Amino acid sequence: MSTLILDGCAVATMDGEDSEYRAGREYEVGHIVVTGNVISAVGPGSPPLFAAPPPAGQGGTVRRIDASGCLATPGLINTHHHLYQWGTRGMAADATLFDWLTQLYPVWARMDVGIVQDLATAALAWLARSGCSTTMDHHYVFPRSGGDLLGATVAAARHVGLRFHPTRGSMDLGASSGGLPPDEVVEDRDAILVASKAAIEEFHDPSPHSMLRIGLAPCSPFSVTSGLLTDAARLARDAGVRLHTHLAETAEEDEYCAEHFGCTPVEYLDSLGWLGDDVWLAHGVHLDDAAVARLAASGTGVAHCPSSNGRLGAGICRTHDLLAAGVRVGLGVDGAASSEENSLIGEVRQAALIARSAGGPRAMTVRQALELATMGSARLLGRDQEIGSLEAGKLADIALWRLDTLPHAGIADPVAALVLGARPPLELLLVNGETIVERDQLVTIDERQVTGQARRASAVLAGRR
Ligand SMILES: [Zn+2]
Repeated sequence: MSTLILDGCAVATMDGEDSEYRAGREYEVGHIVVTGNVISAVGPGSPPLFAAPPPAGQGGTVRRIDASGCLATPGLINTHHHLYQWGTRGMAADATLFDWLTQLYPVWARMDVGIVQDLATAALAWLARSGCSTTMDHHYVFPRSGGDLLGATVAAARHVGLRFHPTRGSMDLGASSGGLPPDEVVEDRDAILVASKAAIEEFHDPSPHSMLRIGLAPCSPFSVTSGLLTDAARLARDAGVRLHTHLAETAEEDEYCAEHFGCTPVEYLDSLGWLGDDVWLAHGVHLDDAAVARLAASGTGVAHCPSSNGRLGAGICRTHDLLAAGVRVGLGVDGAASSEENSLIGEVRQAALIARSAGGPRAMTVRQALELATMGSARLLGRDQEIGSLEAGKLADIALWRLDTLPHAGIADPVAALVLGARPPLELLLVNGETIVERDQLVTIDERQVTGQARRASAVLAGRR
């Protein structure tokens, strides 16, 4: 079995108690030992067992990395994304959510397996470059002749090497029935349920150390019928998989729910039996005090996506109030079409700054911001026993950030340097003990080739080829 030693780095373990969002133990100079795909030791100073080179011929390989000048954190965990949207970045750049969707639905209707695989590979590659070791995906557009698009995203994640939590998304409420999407991009409810069940059976791996777990994710209150929401929840709970949807993203959605259902978005989901600790919601921007309390009481989580909310002018999530109420909050980049930077470490910075802009200087500490993208996100995906912190026995998903170059050298606090400073070079990204990024370069794929494929796929979607 292979052993990897990271020696001499600062370490932010994020192993604190969840109730008070304390970040946990930190070491100014410390070490991490990885054995196989598991962290076997974390602590201050050098690892005592490996102070001398191990004797030759004792089996397995031992690699020791001089990690001085770096900060080790848990690999970041992304809880909301639409990988296919990598191909429609920059479109409808100044639009509101509903205008943006209305412009993009017909473009997304051109997707097929090849396009989605190329775009998902590019999006996953960039996520990895931003320190992300685990990501979800929410794929909800399935053109009739598009083929197995969920399978294409799974293949892309295996190719890049990230831990993957895709959700089988869906839309069954077309414009002719009062929904927002045009009829040609929505599916029949029964077909959605059959495909969702098949996706769980084909891909879901509930075992410990899993690299692939499926969830179900009807898209939003204005693109899905209440019947589908109810049936999808029943199917997910029968199969033991998690539930996800967009909720309370914009004022327009609030108005839509008031007009069509006579209640708020959270009251609507609650009336359908949707809330619970197996559910996490993207955005949660427009929440009144009653909604915050209901999410806390039900254990429902929120994936905070600050850049996307800013890009679409949707509003500012009440992260401080949600955390104070005991709501589980994670972080998401959202699809690249509404968040062109699409960097998970960038989102950590954005979360801290936007919380303070809205709620004052004490609204979110830099360590709370990092917590959102690590243990906070791990809780939303139900993986907090395995990932999200650097502790012996947890999976070896580790980001090693270089903080001794021009933008960061001399910054007093390494966590502040990571969260508030420029995006540092990523010295190393390990996922399940495997090296995915080294010295800011992807080692599992050819980035130049992936870039060319994504450019061509984007041109096809734009109707230029
Ligand atoms: Zn989204």
